[in-house]
Amino acid sequence: MKEKAISLLLMALLLFTINGCAKNFHDTKDPSVGNAQPNTAITNMRVISILPETPYATNAYVYESSKPGPAVMIVGGVHGNEPAGSLAAQKFCEVPVKKGTLIVVPRANATALAANVRTLPEVGDINRAYPGKQDGTYAEKISFAIVQLMNQYKVSMVVDLHEGYAFNALDSKSVGETILPGKDDTSVLLAMDAVEVINQKIKEPYKRFSVLANPIVGSTAHYANSYLQVPAFTVETSDKQALDDRVEYSFQIAKFLISSQGVIEK
Ligand SMILES: [Zn+2]
Repeated sequence: MKEKAISLLLMALLLFTINGCAKNFHDTKDPSVGNAQPNTAITNMRVISILPETPYATNAYVYESSKPGPAVMIVGGVHGNEPAGSLAAQKFCEVPVKKGTLIVVPRANATALAANVRTLPEVGDINRAYPGKQDGTYAEKISFAIVQLMNQYKVSMVVDLHEGYAFNALDSKSVGETILPGKDDTSVLLAMDAVEVINQKIKEPYKRFSVLANPIVGSTAHYANSYLQVPAFTVETSDKQALDDRVEYSFQIAKFLISSQGVIEK
C-alpha cells in the first residue's frame, strides 16, 4: 500500500514536471481527456503528443468548451533561448475558456528550451520550416504537426510568442518589443490596439511596443495568415528586461488578441 502511494506520488510529480500545462487537470477514463480546473464543468482538456516517442516529443493542450465557438492557437517555445514566450503560453492553460477551443503548444521546441539554445542542429529552425513535412527534418515534422492541429480545429487565430535580443526602439535590427501582424486588416488593427493597451503599462518610452511589418516567411504566424488566411501574430518581447516582465507583456498581448475571438475574457 505504501509502495503504491509512493509510486502514485512519483507519478504525480512526474506529471507536474513533464506536463506543466496539465498540472491542474484530473485524469478521466480516457487518459488523454481531463476535466478542467478552474472551469471544471464546461471544459475538457485533451493532450495531443507531437512527435511522440522521439527525443523531440512535446504536447499540445486542447481546451474545449461545451459552448460552441471559434478555435484559437497559442504557440510558445519555438526558439529555446526565448523562455518568456513559452512561460507566457503555459499561463493560458489556466485561463478559463468561455466558448470554443483554446489550443496551447507551450514548448514547441522542447529540447532547445531544455538546453537554452535557439535550436539544436539536428532539429533546425521551426520558424522557417512551415508548412513542414511529415518526413522532413525535425523542425519540418514539428511544424507539420502544428499545421495538422490548425487544420483539424479550423483555427480562426494564431499567436506565436517570441523574444528579441534588444529593444526595437533602440536597435532597429532587433524585433524586441514588437508585434508582427499578418497582412490582413484585422491583424494589423488588432496589433495596433494591443500595442496601445500594453504601452499604457510601460513607463520608459524605449521599452514600449510597436507594430512592425508582417511575420517572416516560413514562420508559424506567416503560415496561418498566408495559407489559412486567419489573423495571426508573432509577438516579440525584449530579453533585455526581467523575465517576469517579458512573460507578463507576452501574456497580456496574447490575451488581448485572442479575447477578440470571444474564446477567453479580455
Ligand atoms: Zn524567436
